[in-house]
Amino acid sequence: MPDTRPTILVVEDEPPIAETITYALKTEGFAPLWRTTGREALATLAQQPVALVVLDIGLPDMSGFDVCRELRRLSAVPVIFLTARSAEVDRIVGLELGADDYLAKPFSPRELTARVRAVLRRTGTGPVAAAPASDGVWRHDAARCRISYRGQVLELARNEYRLLAVLVAAPGRVFSRDQLMTAAWDDPGAALDRTVDAHIKLLRAKLREIAPAADPIVTHRGLGYALREET
Ligand code: CA
Repeated sequence: MPDTRPTILVVEDEPPIAETITYALKTEGFAPLWRTTGREALATLAQQPVALVVLDIGLPDMSGFDVCRELRRLSAVPVIFLTARSAEVDRIVGLELGADDYLAKPFSPRELTARVRAVLRRTGTGPVAAAPASDGVWRHDAARCRISYRGQVLELARNEYRLLAVLVAAPGRVFSRDQLMTAAWDDPGAALDRTVDAHIKLLRAKLREIAPAADPIVTHRGLGYALREET
């Protein structure tokens, strides 16, 4: 019988934490693979398909952020970050790194396996039964770099996608133009403030085509932009 358990790559340099995670994953029917460095993890990803990556940010050879950036060149595999510092949470949320979720240490093994299941269900890459139809206005499929609005997949240019992904991740939160630029442009220094404005304008036009009166992106004068919370 071939092994049909989904492979979960666990990248964590602290053995007690890694052991807890891999034990919990095994118990829940997953096949965990444990790597302690970013380099080893990337080598593994280049060699074999995995269903999901659990990625610690504080690794001995490189940061989890850099590992995530590199692995995104290889694959669209879902990523759950592990973080020990609350300052890192802001970076995960603020930057669109293609992360699907994160857990702050300390967390319970149950919490982790629940998140793994949820992400696999959401990204449609897992063995779990198909996701229930989403009745939300927004749906972000990070593994496929796709955002749906009111049931329709948006056709977005790269920077539009990255910009909208930041807003969708935190409805109601106001992002400054600086934050949006950092998140959406590889070389933020080269972009001017009004580039963000121009892209917001393009996004609004695309959203208006789907729902003419909804206007879900709110301008906060002097502060930046936010996604309307109730939409
Ligand atoms: Ca660590």
